[in-house]
Parts: sequence; C-alpha cells; structure tokens
Amino acid sequence: MSGATPKPEEAIRPEIRSLKGYQVPDASGMLKLDAMENPYRLPAELTSEIAARVAAAPLNRYPDASGRELKAQLTTTMGIPTGMQIVLGNGSDELIQMLALAVARPGAVMMGLEPSFVMFSMIAKFAGMQYVGVPLNADFTIDGEAMLAAIERHKPALIFIAYPNNPTGNLFDADIIARVIAAAPGLVVVDEAYHAFAGASFMPRLGEFPNLLVMRTLSKLGLAGLRLGLLVGHGAVLDHVDKVRLPYNVNVLTQMVASLVLRHGDVLQGQAQAIVSERASLLSRLRGMAGVKAHASEANFILFSVTGAGAVYNRLKQRAVLIKNLDGAHPLLAGCLRVTVGTPVENAQFLDALAASLAE
Ligand code: PMP
Repeated sequence: MSGATPKPEEAIRPEIRSLKGYQVPDASGMLKLDAMENPYRLPAELTSEIAARVAAAPLNRYPDASGRELKAQLTTTMGIPTGMQIVLGNGSDELIQMLALAVARPGAVMMGLEPSFVMFSMIAKFAGMQYVGVPLNADFTIDGEAMLAAIERHKPALIFIAYPNNPTGNLFDADIIARVIAAAPGLVVVDEAYHAFAGASFMPRLGEFPNLLVMRTLSKLGLAGLRLGLLVGHGAVLDHVDKVRLPYNVNVLTQMVASLVLRHGDVLQGQAQAIVSERASLLSRLRGMAGVKAHASEANFILFSVTGAGAVYNRLKQRAVLIKNLDGAHPLLAGCLRVTVGTPVENAQFLDALAASLAE
C-alpha cells in the first residue's frame, strides 16, 4: 500500500469545497428585514379558503407534473403573451440551476453584472460553468460598451440581468438591455424577481427576441414560503430546458395554494402598492439621517451606505433588527447595507434602531 488514505471529502470537486454556501442567518426573535419578503399576511377569508383546500388535498398523489392549472392562472395574472411557454421551478433559484445544467458544456460561459444576485455565479460553479462578471458603473448603471465587448470576447451561453437589480435596486436602461439581447449568441434571462415594485418589464417584448427568457418569482410578492418561480419564453428553447427539470418539482400544496391566491391577484397587487408607497417614505427618512447615503430603488428594498457598516449591522442585530450586510461583497458596495421595506411600524422600528446604532 502506498500513499495516504484518501479523505472521503476529496471526492467533492475542489471548487465546491472552497465555496462558502449561501448564508441564511438565524432570524428567530428578530425583526426580519433581510430577505425581501412581503411583510403582509393574506386576508382571513383567503387563509380560511386555503385551509379548507389543503385539508382536501390529495397528498397521497404526486402533483400534476406539468402544472397545467397553475400555468393557466399565471398566464392570466402575469400577462404572459400568447404562444409563449412556461417552465415552473421550486423558486426561481431552481430555474437558474436548470438553465445552467442545460447549457453547461466544457468551456461554456455564464455572464452576469457585478454586483448582482449571488446565486448566478454560485450556480455557474455548481454546474461547472465559467462565470464572467461585468462590473456596473459606479452609479450602478449598466456599462453597455463593456457588456457588448465582453459578449464579443466570451461568447456566453447564458446571460443573467436582474431587472430591477439586487442588491442595487435600480432598473437598467432598457435600450442597452435590448442591444445586449440582440448581440448575445446564447440565452439572455431578464430576471424580474422585483417586477411588482417596478412597473417595467420585458415580458411584452418576448416576441421580439428568440433568445430572451423572462424569469419571475412569487417570493417577493408575498408567497416566499411556497417556493414558486417561472421562466417564460419560446418553446424552441424552453421545451429543452424543461427536460432537465426534475419530475414533480412543484409540489401539490404549492400548485394549489398559488393558483388560489393568484385568482385573487388584486390582494397581492394591493400589498405591493402599499410597499411601494412605504418605500418612498423610508427612502426620504433614510436620506434625512446624518451619515446615511440611501440609493433610489425600484424594488422592495433600499441599499444605503454608512461609515462602519459592519459595526452598524451588528448593533442593529443586537437591537433585534436583521438586515443584510453587503460591505466587502464587491468594491462598489463598500459601506453598504440593504434593508427590505416592511410595514410602517416595522420601518419606524428599523429607523429608530438605526439612529441608535449610528449614535453608539
Ligand atoms: N433573482 C433575484 C434577483 C433575487 O434577488 C432572488 C432572491 N433574493 C431570486 C432570484 C431567487 O428568488 P426565489 O428562489 O425565492 O424565487
């Protein structure tokens, strides 16, 4: 026998071993403003109806593998253009993974903007793809020329553009995005996770671009606990993406409850409107605080910077307020923290805790 005994963990690829997993901090007992959840509950009539349906749900059966009823409801509620196909995911995270799995071949490149949603680059690693991040301008706008040059150079199989972007909160220039889609040799996903708070969308433009996919999620709309994402685009592409979807990935309860709640789409829409108006008041109050620089947002969160961001984040946590610390995540995010827009009471509580944390 020669050599050291191999350690079982060495069977795991080195790039996975060196990854830091997606961090979800323990939020028990905290005011939770870290994950862009909708702070409002559903009205009692609707929760009673959900309860009755859940009681009658055929949990002994697999779910409808193609999610027909839910897709029909989503088509109406989300204004999906006729002729477009839908792939459902267990959250949009799963759709990102399906896309990466479907395009990953040796040397295949996934391209994104930096800073943006961290799961794009993480999932590229999971799938063995090379990830190329194109930096945003200092004001978080998209650098169209840099993006087009990077496309020319790297010929990405897959590009993700979050619209609005997380964690910066802004919408990119639609004309630049259209040029990127037209120039891309592969698929371009416009990730509209925050669409409900933005009022701008590429959904109506799907017909213009055979390589465009629009991704949405119910997570920010008020149904984060259900885990449902959707990818919309041409059948010529999505019929293949659907093959890497695991059978029955969207469970019986999610399909049933999402269909029911979406039939009352005005409820979620009303909550989104309340969040949008709270966002304006939170922004102006943040901007009124000495030492705080707050960025405008088209999403349900606000990015702001302070000096000593790490310490301020920890002091907020000691006051039982959980937000997201982005300081150090990217050079453009130096000193940045991100807060989800909550209810008026929650936002007031957050602002008080922030004022006290800044004064400490
Ligand atoms: N896209 C963006 C831009 C996001 O910010 C998030 C969640 N933070 C997601 C996708 C994933 O959402 P989910 O998996 O809950 O649908």
